[in-house]
Amino acid sequence: MQDCIFCKIISGEIPSSKVYEDEYVYAFNDINPMAPVHILVIPKTHISNVMDVNSENSDIIAHIFEAIAVIAKQQKLEKGFRVVSNCNEYAGQTVFHLHFHILGGRRLSMEMA
Ligand code: 5GP
Ligand code: ZN
Repeated sequence: MQDCIFCKIISGEIPSSKVYEDEYVYAFNDINPMAPVHILVIPKTHISNVMDVNSENSDIIAHIFEAIAVIAKQQKLEKGFRVVSNCNEYAGQTVFHLHFHILGGRRLSMEMA
């Protein structure tokens, strides 16, 4: 999608620090990490956010979570980590290409919201 920074990261137009890639999924380090491990996992097809997931495209969500399990093991996050997807204004979504934050590498705050 034109003017989507994450589509540009997938195409290589914007550089990123890749941690995982397969046919459907791309994962890279967040530019502004909130924890020692802060990785963004995104579908290679453009979906704006969780509200745009439907029966036509939901296979990718299962695939993303398979990738998250692989990445968590690669990153040695066995002690625990958090997966977050911000959706729209009240959650503070800033990039409108569906992404899952993997946060870990230390004990996380117990505050969820
Ligand atoms: P959101 O606030 O939409 O849930 O998360 C967007 C995330 O994307 C933020 O954590 C932000 O730091 C990250 N981000 C925004 N632009 C870039 C970029 O160009 N490269 C990388 N690696 N991360 C980015
Ligand atoms: Zn996009």
